[in-house]
Amino acid sequence: MWSRERRKTQRKLARLYVLVGVLLAFLLAVLMHSSVLRQGQAIIVERAASEAGLIVELTSGFVRAYSVFGARHPDGKLPNPAIFRAEALKNVEQGIRDGGRFSTGVVGLPGREIRNVAEDEHMRELLDELESTSAVTVSELTVKNGQDTHRSLWAFKATEQACADCHNAIQNRTGADKWEVGDLLGAQVVDQNIDTALANVNKTALVQAVLLFIAVLAIWLCCLYLTNQRRLNRKLKLLATTDPLTGCINRRELYERVNRFKKRTNGAVLMLDLDKFKQINDTHGHDAGDEVIRHFTSSVRASLRATDWIARLGGEEFVVWLPDVTPAEAMSIAERFRIGAEQAIVVSDDHVIKYTVSIGLHIVQNQTPDLFDAWMKSADEHLYRAKQNGRNRVAWDTGQAL
Ligand code: GH3
Ligand code: MG
Ligand code: MG
Repeated sequence: MWSRERRKTQRKLARLYVLVGVLLAFLLAVLMHSSVLRQGQAIIVERAASEAGLIVELTSGFVRAYSVFGARHPDGKLPNPAIFRAEALKNVEQGIRDGGRFSTGVVGLPGREIRNVAEDEHMRELLDELESTSAVTVSELTVKNGQDTHRSLWAFKATEQACADCHNAIQNRTGADKWEVGDLLGAQVVDQNIDTALANVNKTALVQAVLLFIAVLAIWLCCLYLTNQRRLNRKLKLLATTDPLTGCINRRELYERVNRFKKRTNGAVLMLDLDKFKQINDTHGHDAGDEVIRHFTSSVRASLRATDWIARLGGEEFVVWLPDVTPAEAMSIAERFRIGAEQAIVVSDDHVIKYTVSIGLHIVQNQTPDLFDAWMKSADEHLYRAKQNGRNRVAWDTGQAL
């Protein structure tokens, strides 16, 4: 019943751990997605900003027209072509009304293709009109860098003194050459189609996020699996090495431990057997007998040191190994176990049960551990004598000095 409850709790815990793993993987994937997206977008903006740094030369004197988009968009967003286009349209229309003269040409950057295009019909019409009605020459040129960048030169009118001042400073104009408010100036419009680049970045970010999600989840599940395996192995080992009724080590584990002895050793082997246990079973029932066995072992185990062991050999028979004790100490420990049993009162199903134990003691002095069987046999012989002599007593080899 208890173990079914426990299994249920463990299943619930396992489901919870898997859920935590999924959430963790999802969270990391979302973080990765937004980080890759932000980085990708930043690269696109940077590229676009460097594209916008084209150097243009106009025919009337030496002019460098810089498109300082970054300054106009300090938040780092891409220059909005629509704004420039709208300004260009406004200024070209104004240029037509003013009938001013304007002439431009372009020096391209080395290694870049320069060719004329007219993609915007409305703009094209305005330019044609500007050229035909006001003897203004406007060059519209496109510098292609791949298929996605479209640059064009347009007529602009200086509407504020700051515009003219800026242009004059860039152009190093002096005296009569200076631009003034109302003059037509040159400017460039950069249209950059970032749809493809953005779509690529989106795709990359999504793919990386999905891969990360799968990887994190896989690692998490592997860790859960390995942890579970370790837990199961521990459980199996416990089942294989201990006695389920008392939690004492079993005979097999006893020999495992004995085989780990390497050096000559001192100590004591105690063989313990509950007295007239059959009677206890017969009088109070098997469950009460179990209760007595548990009571006895737990009180013995409570008084052992970390280096001592108690193993259940079977039934109500036990062996205790006490390393590094003097014969006198071993005797007093055995006597303590005996008195503890004698004074114990076990209550089971309203039955008050008294029990005693007989103990055989073998003293080990500077001997090799391969003799452990012989030590147990000797302790068992003393136990037999204790039984013969009336039970509830400790017997030892009288030939050994105590
Ligand atoms: P003695 O003083 O000579 O040792 O007498 P005894 O009755 O204890 O000796 P015996 O070996 O004849 O009987 C041991 C009894 O212990 C027999 C068996 O039914 C009982 N027994 C063995 N294992 C268990 C167990 O796990 N639980 C219970 N309740 N009884 C057990
Ligand atoms: Mg017995
Ligand atoms: Mg027995």
